[in-house]
Amino acid sequence: MKYEVVIVGAGPAGSTAAKFLSEKGIKVLLLDKDKFPRGKPCGGGLPVRLFKKFPYINDDFIESYSQSACAYSPTLKYKLELQRDEHILAMILREKFDYELVKLAINSGAKLIDGETAVDVKITNNSAKILLDDNTNVESEIVIGADGVWSTIAKKTGLCNNYKNICMCAFEEYKISPETLDRYLGKARTCHLHFKLNQNAGYGWVFPKKEHINIGISEFRQAIDQQKGKKNIKEKYIEYVKILKKDNVIPENLKIGRIRGAALPTRPLDKTYSERVIVCGDAAGFSNPVSGEGIFHAMQSGKIAADVITKALEKNDTSEEFLSKYQKNWYKDFGKDLKLLYRTSMIWGEGYEKFIEIIFNDKKLGELVVDTIIGKIEARKCRRMMIRRLAYLKIKDKFVKNPNKNQSN
Ligand SMILES: Cc1cc2nc3c(=O)[nH]c(=O)nc-3n(C[C@H](O)[C@H](O)[C@H](O)COP(=O)(O)OP(=O)(O)OC[C@H]3O[C@@H](n4cnc5c(N)ncnc54)[C@H](O)[C@@H]3O)c2cc1C
Repeated sequence: MKYEVVIVGAGPAGSTAAKFLSEKGIKVLLLDKDKFPRGKPCGGGLPVRLFKKFPYINDDFIESYSQSACAYSPTLKYKLELQRDEHILAMILREKFDYELVKLAINSGAKLIDGETAVDVKITNNSAKILLDDNTNVESEIVIGADGVWSTIAKKTGLCNNYKNICMCAFEEYKISPETLDRYLGKARTCHLHFKLNQNAGYGWVFPKKEHINIGISEFRQAIDQQKGKKNIKEKYIEYVKILKKDNVIPENLKIGRIRGAALPTRPLDKTYSERVIVCGDAAGFSNPVSGEGIFHAMQSGKIAADVITKALEKNDTSEEFLSKYQKNWYKDFGKDLKLLYRTSMIWGEGYEKFIEIIFNDKKLGELVVDTIIGKIEARKCRRMMIRRLAYLKIKDKFVKNPNKNQSN
């Protein structure tokens, strides 16, 4: 069976690409190894900027919203609480969210084959041939690898050949009554973020939903060598839950069940295209290297890929040169931000105690950080504004501490 585009992986990246391609009348096959609906390791926090870019994401996709967040310094000395009238984060269950995206793709005309794994891909002069684990194959003009962090397509096409830039996570999503959630995390469903707790090169999160709570801990491998006293991430998770209970963030009787381990990428691949091939989302390394947030970039890269591929098929040009437009476009869109964030992640958490203390004492800086998290401000702009604000605070501090000296200067 020959399609114009075969998309391997029906997560947010693949389904979004499938929707936009099918809407143009392109013959698309969306392929996934799992049967839908299926779960996916995730915190399930969605930045609200996503709604601007994808206005079709409505309340059917969302469990709840958080209007409040607490960030803690590594020693727990400083706790920064922020409340907003608007939503800070939307909370989703991946089983439901991803299935809704798949349904949108099908309704736009894409064909879904789930429960089939792609094991190899061969690029010839005439097609991309995707070999499945039942020894059959499907052919297309172009293949999109949207098959997540351990992407078979990226590996088999030589686009990914190492896993140096990875963030490891341990997490669990607990079912919990809305009344208990109201009691502990309020109607505003306060999210909690613990930075570099116990010298861990990452952060812990508590994401309350409608009737679930997602608790996790992350560890950024690129920053890990600078840390002392390495421990298994699951042990760190158990310690984290103990701290949360002691601080009354979660109920004392919450029982840890099956802690799940998962990984996410923290750096875009050097090259995300080749002849007849494009990789999107986690397969291309598009998660935020500081926060680990990746759904937005997955969907945005799927959309950008669909746009470039639509043009490639119109021009009957599936060459590497033509598809390089994809890399230029995503870099212009969100790549510069990821690059800056990657540099920050190399020294993950360095100076966070001081940083949270400064934010704690300056509401404007705190608001700036929240605006960046919710996507109102790009990381690069946040950096510029932060440098200006910190310089202002330093000068102000000098004047207040030593007004006479500064007046005479
Ligand atoms: C613990 C954890 C917490 C996270 N929390 C957040 C968060 O709160 N907010 C956020 O925005 N992001 C979060 N992320 C990141 C987010 O989950 C990913 O960035 C996002 O899922 C990427 O989407 P994707 O479509 O690229 O890949 P995926 O969602 O990984 O989808 C890939 C799909 O490909 C399929 N597949 C894989 N291999 C094959 C194959 N060989 N053949 C066929 N199908 C295949 C899989 O079954 C899967 O359905 C988190 C990640 C982790 C690990």
